[in-house]
Amino acid sequence: MTNYDTSAIQKLDTAHYIHPFTDHKALGEKGARVMVRGEGIYLWDSNGKKIIDGMSGLWCVNVGYGRTSISQAVYKQMETLPFYNSFFNTTNLPAVELAAKLAQISPPQFNHVYFTGSGSEANDTNVRMVRRYWDVLGHKERHTIISRHNAYHGSTMAGASLGGMSGMHEQGGLPIPGIVHIEQPNYLESGKGMTEEAFGIEAASWLEKKILEVGPEKVAAFIGEPIQGAGGVIIPPSTYWPEIQRICDKYGILLIADEVICGFGRVGRWFASELFGIKPDLITFAKGVTSGYVPLGGVLVGDRVAKVLIEQGGEFNHGFTYSGHPVACAAALENIRIIEDEKLIDRVANDTGPYLKKRFVELADHPLVGYANSCGFVAGLNLVRSKGATVHDNVAFDESQAVGMICRGYMFGNGMIMRAVGDRMIIAPPLVLTTAQIDEMLALIRHCLDLTYADLKERGWV
Ligand SMILES: *Cc1c(COP(=O)(O)O)cnc(C)c1O
Repeated sequence: MTNYDTSAIQKLDTAHYIHPFTDHKALGEKGARVMVRGEGIYLWDSNGKKIIDGMSGLWCVNVGYGRTSISQAVYKQMETLPFYNSFFNTTNLPAVELAAKLAQISPPQFNHVYFTGSGSEANDTNVRMVRRYWDVLGHKERHTIISRHNAYHGSTMAGASLGGMSGMHEQGGLPIPGIVHIEQPNYLESGKGMTEEAFGIEAASWLEKKILEVGPEKVAAFIGEPIQGAGGVIIPPSTYWPEIQRICDKYGILLIADEVICGFGRVGRWFASELFGIKPDLITFAKGVTSGYVPLGGVLVGDRVAKVLIEQGGEFNHGFTYSGHPVACAAALENIRIIEDEKLIDRVANDTGPYLKKRFVELADHPLVGYANSCGFVAGLNLVRSKGATVHDNVAFDESQAVGMICRGYMFGNGMIMRAVGDRMIIAPPLVLTTAQIDEMLALIRHCLDLTYADLKERGWV
């Protein structure tokens, strides 16, 4: 095993490398954890510590680490043609092959794809594309896009504007004009006194209310993550999405499903739109399309939009140097081949997903856990000070106590990556996780919850 001088790496890191979404000064005081290797669902840091990656990197390493066939596909493509652009009436083989493959595995209304380098760029593309769509149809006033509070759609100007993160909007004068937000379908937060089903309908009605407020003739599209990821794995009631679809249809507005997290097997389908019974006009993808081995994102363009843009739109003045990057597309093709070959989607739908759900919701018997739920291979639990008769009677910790971060510290320290969103602890493990590894992971999570509980008891917080 290689020996690393961790503190020297940390010093260099602090001296030169500004990390995303990070308080640089605070990080400099404690030093970053240095990841050096991955294999399957495990990571190793520079101190030789083995860690279960409960977050698939950042929701992306769906097929797990150490896939030689992906690195070989990438290497081969780099040797043959490392880059060529898709501007000026040219194309390349991996991009063509991947576009056709995506048309095959996506819902039937999708036959075209627009490639980008990331999920954020794909959502920027969505903003430009839906506005262009309505312009071409002669509805130049239809430019407003409705999104949701606590949504995450990326970090570019348009991505962060579509997103509903107040902390992001505060920095840099966001959102940009023409983007408005409604409340999220968060049953725990807003569903008191209602069944989940009734709450789903209620939460969807907020969209109609907003459409009427803005003026239906001004609304271009609604965008949402089928399951909100970064917002804390918010799984909507089953009634929510079909009602959203009905409202979009009623007013003729486009529906965009941001499936950057939900796509490529995460919920036991190629796309979560299939699971939730919706027919979006556009699907944003990134992350799992290459399992993160190489950056790639894009927009699946449904027939309704494609027909107008292609047959009546002329040139669409938009594109990136790396749109359809041959190396990224080669990585995606091999990644998709693995997902198909190892039947990972079927496993998540019918075997490991249900098993994860069974084991994960058992955590609700822990004194700290007020609520635990999952869908496919995303799951979350809420840490609470005390439990009441229903989930809405649980007593939360004070925000300033930052209990989620304390819990995350125990997880990290004991070899388990579990993310904290406030006091909600979330996972999105690689789809290759076996039932034995689910048991191993759940034992570790329970152990760390015990450590957290003991710590909070000592502080007198429980
Ligand atoms: C991560 C994410 C994005 C942004 O993707 P980047 O590749 O980081 O730009 C957009 N939407 C959702 C739902 C995401 O989770």
